Amino acid sequence: MNWDDFAHWGRHIADWGAAYHKTLRDRPVRAQTAPGEIAAQLPAAPPEGPEPMDAVMADFEAMVLPGMTHWQHPRFFAYFPANAAPPSMLAEQLVNTVASQCMLWQTSPAATEVEGVMVDWLRQALDLPSNYTGVIQDSASSATLSAVLTMRERATGYTGNREGLSSKGRLRIYCSEEVHSSIDRACWVAGIGQDNLVKLPTTGPRFAMDPAALDAAIATDIRAGHTPAGLIAITGGTGVGASDDLGPILAIAKRHDLYTHLDAAWAGAAMICPEFHATFWQGVAGYDSIVFNPHKWLGAQFDCSVQFLTDPQPQLNTLKIEPEYLKTTGEAVTNYSEWTIPLGRRFRALKIWFLIRSYGLDGLRSRIRNHVTWAEELCAALRDDGFEITSDPILSLFSFRCPGNDDDQQRLVDALNDDGRIYLTQGSFQGRKVIRFQVGQFDCTRDDVMVARDVITEIWKTIR
Ligand SMILES: *Cc1c(COP(=O)(O)O)cnc(C)c1O
Repeated sequence: MNWDDFAHWGRHIADWGAAYHKTLRDRPVRAQTAPGEIAAQLPAAPPEGPEPMDAVMADFEAMVLPGMTHWQHPRFFAYFPANAAPPSMLAEQLVNTVASQCMLWQTSPAATEVEGVMVDWLRQALDLPSNYTGVIQDSASSATLSAVLTMRERATGYTGNREGLSSKGRLRIYCSEEVHSSIDRACWVAGIGQDNLVKLPTTGPRFAMDPAALDAAIATDIRAGHTPAGLIAITGGTGVGASDDLGPILAIAKRHDLYTHLDAAWAGAAMICPEFHATFWQGVAGYDSIVFNPHKWLGAQFDCSVQFLTDPQPQLNTLKIEPEYLKTTGEAVTNYSEWTIPLGRRFRALKIWFLIRSYGLDGLRSRIRNHVTWAEELCAALRDDGFEITSDPILSLFSFRCPGNDDDQQRLVDALNDDGRIYLTQGSFQGRKVIRFQVGQFDCTRDDVMVARDVITEIWKTIR
C-alpha cells in the first residue's frame, strides 16, 4: 500500500465510520451469530500474494461486521460503557499514524508532557488535591496490579522483588466483598494469594465495607502474626455499584500504616460532577493510589486508565528498572515506563486532550447527569410495571428481577439479547441472579432508555 492509497482508504473508512454510527440503531446490539460461524467464513490459510483493499474491506463488511457486538450502540445497557467519543477516535487515528513508543521522555517528549498535563486536568476535574500526580495505564487491572505490587514491596521493606516471598509470611490485603475480579487477580499474580485477600461484609444503602469489620480483621491478623499490607476501597462496584464510605476505612488503614488504593474505574467519571461528591467522594483525599477509567463513562476510546498517586516513589521503588539501553542523559525528566509494568507505551493522553477540548467538562457533565436521571426514571417505571428492584440506582446502575426464579432471570436476559433492540447482562447479588441495567452510552437519549421499558415488558410477556 502506498501513501496515496492510504489517504484514499483513510477517507473511505472515515466516511464509513460516520455512516455506521448514524445508522447504529438499525442493528441488533449484541451479535446474533453462533460460535464458529465467523471463523468458518475465513480462509484457513493466509494468502501468498497481495489482495486489493476493496476486497478486504468488502469482506470486513460481509463477514466481520455481523459478528460484532456494538458497544457504541445507543441502546447498550450491558456491563459498563466503553465510550469512544468521535474526537477521541480522531486523536487515536493521529496516534496510530505517528505510532511512537512513549516509554521515556526522550522517546517522545510531547507524549510525556501532554500526559503530565492531562493527568493534572483530570485531577482538577475530579477535585483531587494538588499533591496528586499520576500516570495513564492501559487498564484498571494494570493500575490495581501496580498498586498491589507496591503494597507487597512496601510491606516487605522493598525486599520482595530481590528475595522472593518464601520467607515473608502472610501479607494481608483488605477489601469489601463487592470488589471487581481484577482485585483478586492482582493478588494472585503478585504472590499474595487469594486466601490473603480478606473480603469484608458490606452494610448500608450503598453496600459499603463495614469499618468495624475492617478494624477487627486487622487486629485478628496481627495477633496471628500476619502482616497487614494494604486496603483496597471501591467507589462504584461492578455488580450493583457498591461504594465504600472512604473516610472511616482510610483512617483505620492509616492507623496501621497500610498502603491504600481506591478502585473508581467506572464511577470515577461521574466525579466530574460536584453534586455526587457528598455521597461518593468524601474522604477520597489521602488514598495513596486511585484508579479511574476515562475509557468507560467519560468518552475516551479504549484503552485509557488513569492512576493518581499522592507519592509516586513507593511505586517507582517497586517497578522502576533501568538497564543501560534505557538510560538517558540530561535534564531530570519523567520516564513513565518506570511507573508501570509494560515498557512500551501508547500515546494515550492525546485522546483526553481532544475529548476535553471538544466538549468541555460541562458537555461531559451534562451527559453523565442525564444518564443518572434517566436510570432513575426507568427504574421507577419498571417498579410500577411489577418488576422487583433488587438494588436502587447507584449513579446510573440498578438491578431488577422479573417474577420467577433465577432461571427465569436468565431466560429474560437471553430473550432480550436475542431480540437485539437492547442489550443488558445478568449479575449476582446477595445470592440471587439479578438483571443489571446501566445507562452510560455517549449518544444515548432519554428515548433510548425509555424504549428499554417497552422492550423489557413486551419480551417478558412472550416468555412468561
Ligand atoms: C471495569 C472495571 C475494572 C476493570 O477495568 P479494566 O480497565 O477493564 O481492567 C475494575 N474495577 C471496576 C469497578 C470496574 O468497573
